[in-house]
Amino acid sequence: MTKNNDKKKKHSAAFRKKYYNLLMKTREQFVSQMNVRREEALNTADLDKSSISNHIADSANNEMELHLLTQDGNVLELIDLALKRLEDGEYGTCMDCSCDIGDPRLEFRPYSMYCIQCKSIREKNNGINPNVG
Ligand SMILES: [Zn+2]
Repeated sequence: MTKNNDKKKKHSAAFRKKYYNLLMKTREQFVSQMNVRREEALNTADLDKSSISNHIADSANNEMELHLLTQDGNVLELIDLALKRLEDGEYGTCMDCSCDIGDPRLEFRPYSMYCIQCKSIREKNNGINPNVG
């Protein structure tokens, strides 16, 4: 092996192809899901125009929809970032601790940016890495 001062890993062509396809597939799924949900949310808003105050009082469902929309938006951003990281050879490396995220996790959620440990640390801390900032 040549000396490796660079933090970046070289991914094999097979690795890049596999996760590129997986990311694009996931992206398509999210885009079509998002369109369906957006239409549903708009339809609901239309029906409820006449009773907006009732609607607000009774909007737990709709808040859930909006929350899901926001989440999907974030997922799309994550997928785009993952595609960029795949190009840069950084894909599959935890952004917090630089360890390998691991194939099982990437196959389940190809836009993962953190290993399972760092992810759960962040979840306990409102999405912020307690070691940073
Ligand atoms: Zn990590």
